[in-house]
Amino acid sequence: MGLTNRSVGAHAVDTGLVIEKQTREDRVIALAGNPNVGKSTVFNALTGMNQHTGNWPGKTVSNAQGYCRTKRHSYVMVDIPGTYSLMAHSAEEEVARNFLCFGGADAVVVVCDATCLERNLNLVLQTLEITPNVVVCVNLMDEARRKRIRIDLGALSRRLGVPVIGVIARKKKSLSALTETLDRLSDGAQTRPAAVRYPEPVEQAIATVEPLVRARVGERLPSRWLSLQLLDPDETLLSEADRFLGCAFSEDAALEHALASVRESLLRQGIDSERLKDMIVSALVGEAESVCTAAVRRERETYGAFDQRLDRLLTSRATGYPIMLLLLAFILWLTITGANYPSQLLSDALFWVQGRLTELFHALGAPEWLHGALVLGVYRVLAWVVSVMLPPMAIFFPLFTLLEDAGYLPRVAYNLDKPFQRCCACGKQALTMCMGFGCNAAGVVGCRIIDSERERLLAILTNCFVPCNGRFPTLIALLTMFFVGAAGGAAASLWSALLLTGVILLGVLVTFGVTRLLSKTVLKGVPSSFTLELPPYRRPQVGSVIVRSILDRTLFVLGRAAAVAAPAGLIIWLLANVTAGEANLLDHCAAFLDPFARLMGLDGVILLAFILGFPANEIVIPLIIMTYLSQGSLLELGSLAELRALFVEHGWTWVTAGSAMLFTLLHWPCSTTVLTIRKETGSWKWTALAVAIPTVLGVCACMLFNAAAHLLT
Ligand code: GDP
Repeated sequence: MGLTNRSVGAHAVDTGLVIEKQTREDRVIALAGNPNVGKSTVFNALTGMNQHTGNWPGKTVSNAQGYCRTKRHSYVMVDIPGTYSLMAHSAEEEVARNFLCFGGADAVVVVCDATCLERNLNLVLQTLEITPNVVVCVNLMDEARRKRIRIDLGALSRRLGVPVIGVIARKKKSLSALTETLDRLSDGAQTRPAAVRYPEPVEQAIATVEPLVRARVGERLPSRWLSLQLLDPDETLLSEADRFLGCAFSEDAALEHALASVRESLLRQGIDSERLKDMIVSALVGEAESVCTAAVRRERETYGAFDQRLDRLLTSRATGYPIMLLLLAFILWLTITGANYPSQLLSDALFWVQGRLTELFHALGAPEWLHGALVLGVYRVLAWVVSVMLPPMAIFFPLFTLLEDAGYLPRVAYNLDKPFQRCCACGKQALTMCMGFGCNAAGVVGCRIIDSERERLLAILTNCFVPCNGRFPTLIALLTMFFVGAAGGAAASLWSALLLTGVILLGVLVTFGVTRLLSKTVLKGVPSSFTLELPPYRRPQVGSVIVRSILDRTLFVLGRAAAVAAPAGLIIWLLANVTAGEANLLDHCAAFLDPFARLMGLDGVILLAFILGFPANEIVIPLIIMTYLSQGSLLELGSLAELRALFVEHGWTWVTAGSAMLFTLLHWPCSTTVLTIRKETGSWKWTALAVAIPTVLGVCACMLFNAAAHLLT
């Protein structure tokens, strides 16, 4: 059967994804595969997109689609969640199965891991039962070579009856064979997929039912596979099939009668539902084993002694935690030390531009208010965001991504599994916490990797206790200014790295505390057991990680700064320049908040900045600066030292900075995160709780800190 493009209609919507074809001729290709086999890397290479990749299983949480054009054809590629099987025991398996059966894909590329092909073949064999249009893409050929595993792709292809391509997804060029094969299929090339043979009683049952099923569904669904499913039917599959076909296809007297009689006959032979499932799985596993015996040769055991030694070091009780802490401190130290110099350069450059802009405005005879609003308002905020916030992020995130790419994050989750279990939560929450480091909204979406609803809510409600990339540089700036001195030096940066590690640890401890509290009160329950798979260590792609995370984050931050900080700058400038009575509006607001803020060790301006910073945490410090500047002398803020001077002039002490840092760590999530929480939980009640918990904690923590500091000093 060649590859003709199937019409994609309403049923595609039922799988939760509307396929966006650009022309009628576009073919839809589903990318399937076990978790962590490089499926997203293949998807990105083919579509030029930037789906999240990372070395741990289960991070693709929803279908994504992208466009791929070859010389002869064009394709919509759909990346479906990674799954080990299509038996639909889990949500991902159901999504994957439904998409493959009813999603309107013209062909399926099953991406496999060359280093553990046998396990991957289970999914390949199941996919072959659903559609003949399959291309097996054996990825990670470089890893296999390193581990001395030889794969005879020709033999594999002959056994499976479909094309098999070996690739190294990280090398884009190696994927050309894959697109050429898709083109050949599109041009009408035939495949002859191998069918798994089940034990005789099952085969007989299929043979009895299949003609009746085929009469009902024709070519629209694979009748052999459907017959097998009907022997032990799964309600969701049946209802999906009915919806797809537009009729209750199994409600047919002859079919019902035949099914009842084959089920009875199977039972007579001692084959109940459980036994049937066992037989099916054993047949698949047996077939995968036999295919591998014919096509794969190992010259050495796969899971190397080195990996095992490293795992013992990174996850044992004695060394796991210290290494985790040291690594965190080391990364933070590199970030703080490395950020100083580029930060200064950027700041010099951007404030030089500010001077020229001012000259330009004067030369053009622009009114002072316009210069104030645009240059001193909008431009200066942008310059601040770029020069102070960008360098630490551009260092921290690539380093963090390198650890992720090498496979360290799942080890962190493994280490933290015990404490999370003790809080009646699940170790995967550690992974969502790590995602929160980048962006809490992403962390909240990432909570989908947690199966239990209760544990997912726990992870969502506590995600904002890890500082995201908006709050992270704020913490670094405050810390550098008030606790180690802006002068720098090796000892100072070491000290600030340790302090920052402490702040992050505090966030983690609060996460544990709140998780435990919630699981003893509103979210009671026992922790579910789950198997966290430790992926093999892989050499990270240093170059592309650095380039990608710098470019992505840079653009993201700049975009967000432009979209949020600039208008906020304008609003602040307006508030500061519109007077009501004696004082301007900004002063009125700040004065109103001041008494309460003082109890927290802050002042009205700082609290107002946090409130106005709701759209994006990045702008809290710029807002404080602008408010102070609008109240006092005008400074050129070229460096953190000058910034410190401005803050001190407005009454800041180390207590103010400490309170501000505490409140940075513990306050309401930003607007994007709040909306994401609403979307993910589907409830305003949980969203309100997600806002209330950190806010109340933050206010209390600041008040306690302030009171304690005043008692001690
Ligand atoms: P997915 O879970 O299947 O989507 O897997 P990803 O695309 O996120 O890849 C998992 C990890 O494998 C990432 O660290 C990738 O950089 C890495 N990876 C993907 N393809 C290759 C490859 O061909 N060779 C090597 N050495 N690593 C790869």
